[in-house]
Amino acid sequence: MQDKDRDHLDLLYNIGELTALIRESTDVGNLLARTVDMVSQHLQAEVCSIYLYDETSLELVLKATKGLNPEAVDKVRMACGIGLVGATLEEMQPICEGDAQCNPRFKYFPEACEEAFRSFLSVPIQRGVVRIGVLVVQHSQPNYFDETDVRTLRAIAAQLAGVLENARLLMNLRRLEGEQDHPMTAAELRFVKGLAASPGFAHGPAVVFDRSHARLLETAGEAQATEDDFHRAVQQTAEQLEQLQERIAERLPESASLIFSAHFMMLKDAQFTDRIAAMIQAGTAVPEAVKEVARHYIELFAASPHQYLQEKAKDLEDLAGRILKNLAGQPWEEHGFYDRQVVIAPALYPSEILKFAAEGVAGIVLASGGVTSHVAILARSLGMPLIIANQPGLLSIPQGLPVLMDAELGNIYVDPDSDIVHTFEMRNHARRTAETHAEAMLPETYTRDGERVYVRANINLLSEVPIASELKAEGIGLYRTEFPFLVRSTYPSEEEEYRVYKRLCDAMAGRLVTFRTLDIGGDKVPAYLEIAGEPNPQLGLRSIRFSLRHPELFRQQVRAILRAGVDTLDLRIMFPMISSLDEFRQARKIVAESLDELKSERLPHHSTPSLGVMIEVPSAVEIIDELAQEADFLAIGTNDFVQYLLGVDRMNERVADAYRPEHPSVLRALKRIADAARRAGKEASICGEMALDRDLLPFLLGIGIRSFSVDPHQLPAVQGLVRAVSLAEAEAYAARLLIEPTLEGVQRVLQSGPNRSNPKSLDDPP
Ligand code: PEP
Ligand code: MG
Repeated sequence: MQDKDRDHLDLLYNIGELTALIRESTDVGNLLARTVDMVSQHLQAEVCSIYLYDETSLELVLKATKGLNPEAVDKVRMACGIGLVGATLEEMQPICEGDAQCNPRFKYFPEACEEAFRSFLSVPIQRGVVRIGVLVVQHSQPNYFDETDVRTLRAIAAQLAGVLENARLLMNLRRLEGEQDHPMTAAELRFVKGLAASPGFAHGPAVVFDRSHARLLETAGEAQATEDDFHRAVQQTAEQLEQLQERIAERLPESASLIFSAHFMMLKDAQFTDRIAAMIQAGTAVPEAVKEVARHYIELFAASPHQYLQEKAKDLEDLAGRILKNLAGQPWEEHGFYDRQVVIAPALYPSEILKFAAEGVAGIVLASGGVTSHVAILARSLGMPLIIANQPGLLSIPQGLPVLMDAELGNIYVDPDSDIVHTFEMRNHARRTAETHAEAMLPETYTRDGERVYVRANINLLSEVPIASELKAEGIGLYRTEFPFLVRSTYPSEEEEYRVYKRLCDAMAGRLVTFRTLDIGGDKVPAYLEIAGEPNPQLGLRSIRFSLRHPELFRQQVRAILRAGVDTLDLRIMFPMISSLDEFRQARKIVAESLDELKSERLPHHSTPSLGVMIEVPSAVEIIDELAQEADFLAIGTNDFVQYLLGVDRMNERVADAYRPEHPSVLRALKRIADAARRAGKEASICGEMALDRDLLPFLLGIGIRSFSVDPHQLPAVQGLVRAVSLAEAEAYAARLLIEPTLEGVQRVLQSGPNRSNPKSLDDPP
């Protein structure tokens, strides 16, 4: 140890200087590099590295190193607790090892080339309780570092903490700016952070979905095939599609028959097959003839001014691909073209999500959208992992490259190494096991001090009804009637609507069902309705506006609901996006007329449905007392309410940070709604995602909300949250939140939670 001539005081002095330098500088990377240089020099360590903790990916990332492979910067990543560096952060304690590789927690990162270094000393970098990163020194000589080094490195880390915290923020900022302005390089694309829009894990080859139909041209075919082979391939394709359809019917009973309708239509169309046969007879190779004719139809469809025909172009590409695969004798995928693949797409229609689910897609990464968008809601209903990542670079990754999606955290790993895959497989297994052992739900929900609360389910697809029943939902608080019809190519008839609604009511065996009338428009535009292309769809012909503009369609839906609900004890119908008393009265009038019609037609129906208003636009709040008096119940759709009150597009990931359900204006408006409902003696429920927020649910209880309707998978969690809080606590918490005029103040109270009596500091005015 004598050979080490280190001047620790000098080091601390220099670090102080460095601190000032970093603060003034914008080139963070360079300054981190100089820091590791300086520390390694003063401690005479051959290696000095800084790992920063990325709070979004929950990983430690090597950000600067002197002595390890410089290529490893940004590549060596580890979760908190993994390896000696991860252990340092987890335990917030230094680790000093005379021979690091003898420690069972040592983890070898091949990129770092650190095998030569035996002595290891690491200290956590922290600010208060905030974990910032880990500072590490290494040396090839065993037992090189001593107690003095530990103390010194700790002191350095303490001095660096503030600076490194800024550096970390700056780097994050750069990354965000970079994401918007430049496509990422292949190396940067190895890890992409997005928003978790539908939970789960997926691992599979990437398939970049575009609407250019280029995929068809890449599909191989058997050049030696004959015309007979072609007819056989067509026959085989038809049989496979039928099998596929049968399987889908179990998962999506309301839309199965529609998903492959275009495929069947084309297969049955003699012109399509005849054209191909004619080309084969004229000497064209079979695969070429299939592609040529398919291309012709694709162009026809794609050029159509009608969106539903444009969408058919994709179906035709899929069909031709299937025929080509059968020609080449390739085994047909059990599910579909996208079976077990990770689809990466710029944007998708809800109907496309349904098709992907039907085809067994493993997960979806979208380059645009928001987590409360309907595509995200639908993906959750389908149990399909979905991440929204504002990273167009993903759209250019090579087809077939393995991608791992951690849609619990919103992390995307492109071409992950086997360690990462293994970790995720273990976690996925644990998650599944935990899911099946989900905490047993009690049939009724009470707060800790015995206040009765109703927890119901939001249903988008019939396939969710069993899980809602299994988890003892006290009825359906919101059935989004539009979803089953998004994959159709025509508006359904009353009979078709009736059949779907009847299945739901039968499955609920008489228990409460709340039908929300059609909420199309916005981000849910069925192709056949020709309302696509509005300049501001969220402010356009949406929801009740559409229904009132098309009273014949509205009436038909209301009749189907009333007929289907004949045996439902508590049948509720609610109207989305009501912005005036007048709209509610018009809607109510249509229900009254439909009841009269059904009565005179002697068709069995429910004759006393409760009629509710969804509170989703701010104008409703100004007339809330009158709405509460006239309606039988209120249902607050917080997803839209936040969007319209704050003027923030719920679909746009770029403004996701401005979409704040905890905004003081939102909280105060909700209180006004809850008060009005109480005064009128009516129920006000919450059926938006806000009910899932563990910090905000106690607030909602505190302002008097007693019923919630949530994604069925979340029922146990919501019941657990309700049971954990007492009404007195919730009310005091709500009162504290309501006096805060700023987001910052609200955040402070939220952090203190409902169970703490006074979160404010003594300095605060009373
Ligand atoms: C809402 O807006 O909160 C709501 C429940 O309706 P949707 O999410 O379908 O718009
Ligand atoms: Mg809504």
